[in-house]
This record gives sequence, structure tokens and C-alpha cells, in this order.
Amino acid sequence: MDQVDAVVVGAGVVGLAVARQLALAGREVLILEAAARFGTGASARNSEVIHAGIYYPPGSLKARLCVRGRERLYEFCAGRAIPHRRCEKLIVATTDAELPGLARVAATAQANGVELTRLDRAAAQALEPQLSCAAALHSPLTGIIDSQACMLALLGDAESRGASLACGSALTRVVLSDGAALIGVNGAQPALRARTLVNCAGVQAPQVARLMEGLSPAQIPAAYFVKGSYFALKGRAPFERLIYPLPDAGGLGIHLTLDLGSRARFGPDVEWVDSCDYRVDARRAPAFYAAIRRYWPALPDGALEPAYAGVRPRISGPGEPLADFRIDDVRTHGVPGLINLFGIESPGLTASLAIADEVVDRLR
Ligand SMILES: Cc1cc2nc3c(=O)[nH]c(=O)nc-3n(C[C@H](O)[C@H](O)[C@H](O)COP(=O)(O)OP(=O)(O)OC[C@H]3O[C@@H](n4cnc5c(N)ncnc54)[C@H](O)[C@@H]3O)c2cc1C
Repeated sequence: MDQVDAVVVGAGVVGLAVARQLALAGREVLILEAAARFGTGASARNSEVIHAGIYYPPGSLKARLCVRGRERLYEFCAGRAIPHRRCEKLIVATTDAELPGLARVAATAQANGVELTRLDRAAAQALEPQLSCAAALHSPLTGIIDSQACMLALLGDAESRGASLACGSALTRVVLSDGAALIGVNGAQPALRARTLVNCAGVQAPQVARLMEGLSPAQIPAAYFVKGSYFALKGRAPFERLIYPLPDAGGLGIHLTLDLGSRARFGPDVEWVDSCDYRVDARRAPAFYAAIRRYWPALPDGALEPAYAGVRPRISGPGEPLADFRIDDVRTHGVPGLINLFGIESPGLTASLAIADEVVDRLR
């Protein structure tokens, strides 16, 4: 049987950040990735926003790791010349009836130690003349990032410290015994022995955990797939900052985000689905026009075109409170050397470096 010190399952932004951090800590690392290349899952299908840490319940892993991860990510981007821009964002109350909701967002941000400034309508419109709102919150710390460049840099660091990436290598069986994981790939019998196993399989993480013989099923959350579609704007972006409505039950609302070429796209909406189907249904467009016109009434007819979709790896069901990130270690499931990451949806890109720090600390 081949031996390796640590195996990371999944080469999305979180798996790559974890692999890098393990390699920097001097561990021998093999990354197993089912797809033909790294970073084709949620990490390639998101808003590419570096979140400030505004919305998450104070004291939650999401709040702590987003704030820390944002600081770490800006440092990493600056140090490695990763394209990014601190473009700022406005969260808007579109009517007076939404003002109490805006105040709740401001209070949560304050409890999380995140800087926000309240703007009245005139002050918001002085920043963004095309914006329609009753009031807004200005976040100076929010930014955008080239997530592919970020993943490439994470992989480069990991590989330069000796880590290896095996693409086209789906983990299909694990036997947990005697402080080690015996791992089978692509349907073969277990042929690889690892002291440490970190499950960063994103939306597939609960399914990967179910492959682990020796892990109690009670330790594996239910998996829900929540699709988010995006529509791109034809022509020039009307705003310089990101524009977000108030968050709703399923997500942060259909917002405007910019890419580094200043092209605008809107999304993601919320659609509970049974599997990962990344096609964007053009019939969803009318709901986008209606949502966007609440803060940008001048959106012309015919200006939106289907762009792409991502699937949130959710572990709380419809109508349930949104679950926190889960970083399950030996204290949770009793298996030394095993970490399962569950429910790493937004702000997982922002938090990736802080999640990696947390994983490596917990393995010490
Ligand atoms: C619509 C949407 C918008 C978002 N917007 C933002 C945002 O603006 N800012 C932000 O901070 N976060 C955002 N997020 C969250 C962020 O994208 C994710 O938290 C992050 O990308 C998760 O990375 P990951 O590495 O855990 O998962 P993934 O990128 O999904 O990677 C998991 C990898 O595991 C591999 N895998 C699965 N099963 C196996 C197996 N059996 N063997 C080997 N490999 C396997 C998959 O092929 C995949 O490559 C958004 C998410 C979505 C869906």
C-alpha cells in the first residue's frame, strides 16, 4: 500500500488553500480531484466577491472566518499580484418599509466589528447617480477577485512546497482504521494510506463522508443543492460599486457584481434543485428584471442575457435557519486525523485562507 502523510479531497479554493497551508506546515500532501482540472466547482461559479463579513451571526464560524479570511485574502492578493479590486459596495433599502431591515444588517455588521456607514438617499445617489433607494449602507472593505488566479497561486505555493495534485482521481472508498485512512480512487480497492484526510469536496462533501467506513452516519449532515443563476448585462455597467438589496431567506438577494473588466452581472437567485445542473434557464429573466428594477429602475428591456450558474452546498433545508460552516474534527466525530468540511457556501471564497488556518490548527 502506498503511504502519504495527508490527503485533501477536492481542488476548489478551499481544498487548495488547505493543501497549501498543510504544505507550508511541512506536511506531505496529495490533493485528489475528481474533475479533469482544479477549480471547476463552486469556486468557478460564484460572485467573486471578497465579503467584508457583514451578515453572519456574531460568534459564528462564518462571521469569524470571513473577517479573518478577508484580511488574509487581501494580503495574499497584494503579495502575489492576484487581480482584485476593493471596489466597495452599497446595501440598499429600496423603500421606507425596508429601513428596519437595513438597520438590522447594520447592527449585525457592528457586532462583527465590520465597518459600514449609513447614507441617506441623497448621499447614496451622490455616489451612484442611477441608484434608486430610501437609504443605503456603504461597505468600504468589500472587493472583487479573480478567483481562478487566486486558485492558481494557491496551487503554485502548495506545489512549490512539495504537494501534488492528481486530477481525474475521484475518491470512491475510505476505510478508517487504526488512526489512518485507507483510500480507494476511481472504484479501485484502497491502495493509499494517509494519516490525515481532509474532505473539501464542496457540494459533494456529505456524499464523500458517506463513503467513509468507520464514520458514524449520525455525523453526516443532509445535503441540499441550492442553485443560483446569473444574468450578464449587455453594455456598460451603470454602477462603480457592487449593489446589494437586503438579504432574503435563501441568499444575499439578486445583486449587481462587477468583474475586473468592469462588466456587470446580476445574481444569484435561489432555486432548490435535486442535482448540479449548471444550465441557466432564460425563463428566469422576468424575475431578474423585477428584482433589479427595484434598485435600478432604468434597466432597459432586453439588456440581460443568461450567463452561468453555481450550486450552493447547503446543509440546512428550506425554511430552516441558514446553517453555519461545519469543520468537523476528532472532537466532533471521534476519528483522529479526519476533518470534514460541510456547508462551505458563501463566504467560502473569502474565508478560504482562514478556513485553511483553522483546519491546520485543529490537526495539530
Ligand atoms: C452562486 C454562488 C455564489 C457565491 N458567491 C460567493 C462570493 O461572492 N464570495 C464568497 O466568498 N463566496 C461565494 N460563494 C461561496 C464559494 O464559491 C464557495 O464557498 C467556495 O467556492 C467553496 O470552495 P470548495 O473548495 O469548498 O468547493 P468547490 O469549489 O465546489 O470544490 C470542490 C471540489 O471537490 C471535487 N470533488 C467532489 N467529489 C470528489 C471526490 N469524490 N473525489 C475527489 N474530488 C471530488 C469537485 O470536483 C470540486 O472540484 C458562492 C457560492 C455560490 C454557489
